[in-house]
Order: sequence, then C-alpha cells, then structure tokens
Amino acid sequence: MTGTMRCDVCGKEGAQIQLVTRAYGRGGRELLIRNVPVVTCPQCGESYLTAETLYEIERIKLHRRALAARKQIEVAEFVRAPVEGEARPTRALQRPARSTVRR
Ligand SMILES: [Zn+2]
Repeated sequence: MTGTMRCDVCGKEGAQIQLVTRAYGRGGRELLIRNVPVVTCPQCGESYLTAETLYEIERIKLHRRALAARKQIEVAEFVRAPVEGEARPTRALQRPARSTVRR
C-alpha cells in the first residue's frame, strides 16, 4: 500500500498509510501486532484505522494462537523522572490528543 488516499474524516486527498506496531491487551496477555496500517491525514491531522483494518485486528486477536508467534522482545516502561529546573512543556505536548485511533 503506497501513495496517498482520500481522508475518511475531511474528505481531502493526501492521507497516507503508516505501518505501526500496536499493543493489545494487558499484563501477560499482551499481543503485539506489527505493520498495522494507520491512515494519517496531513490536511486535518487525524489518524485512524479503516474498518477493514479493525476487522483484521479482531480476526488476529481471535486467532492469536494460530497467527501469533512467541518472541523475546525488550520492553521498556515510559517513566519520566522529574528534572529540576525543567522547561515547561512545549505547546505540542499541551495540545490535546486528536487521534481517533481506537483499540
Ligand atoms: Zn483529513
């Protein structure tokens, strides 16, 4: 899947597919799915999963025993230690998330 497509949110051309790794579930039942196509639109800033992608994710979760392979991976927690005299968050950090990506 290359090139651009029409954005489902704003209807403009130029939305792009990005392949990302997403994690589902919690604790010892976490499942990583690689190369999930996320549509991101530079026009309106939205990023979302298509209905087909959501359907496929549900299918993978349902058949994870058959479709998923156990692999050893390194997992890090995002822990942000307070730093003295730290600068205030940038505007980008303060901006509320507009993502419509759902699990
Ligand atoms: Zn858009």
